[in-house]
Amino acid sequence: MKYMAFALLLLLGAVSTQAQDSGKKMTTTKNDSHSTLKSTTGKNMQIEKIKKSDQEWKNILTPAQFRVLREKGTEVAFTGKYYKTDKDGNYRCAGCGNLLFTSKEKFDSGCGWPSFFAPADNEHVTIHKDYSHGMVRDEVVCAKCGGHLGHVFEDGPRPTGLRYCINSASLEFDANDDKNKK
Ligand SMILES: [Zn+2]
Repeated sequence: MKYMAFALLLLLGAVSTQAQDSGKKMTTTKNDSHSTLKSTTGKNMQIEKIKKSDQEWKNILTPAQFRVLREKGTEVAFTGKYYKTDKDGNYRCAGCGNLLFTSKEKFDSGCGWPSFFAPADNEHVTIHKDYSHGMVRDEVVCAKCGGHLGHVFEDGPRPTGLRYCINSASLEFDANDDKNKK
């Protein structure tokens, strides 16, 4: 920060012949802080991030997908298209195609939303603290596009004890038909 202010002062000094306020501290405010997806571990660095405007998302998502992924909405329990799905296959992000979960980690939690005890890859999802609605919850977010997926709770089965409670609208299921035939 100091170096930046110093460099700016040098620049100002070059433009105006006499920089009288050189003793003053320069404060620079960055407005793009929201563009960086916080990663507590820093492990998500290698995942290519996708950024789109709300209008661009609206063009490619259904209204239900937009409400969940981009506005952190929650679908009504037992109404989503995947809470009962028990076929083999992969669950990808409906926004960007990032592989999020597989049928191997899916279990029937009875809660009315697709539930998984682990993601397909820990680096494909990011966990954020969510303080909305007077609760403290762990929000599950797609590490690639930042889309809201659901929440993770510590009442899941073995081996992790976690329950990733995910909205169907944030997922695209891709059935592994070859496997189902066997
Ligand atoms: Zn995504």
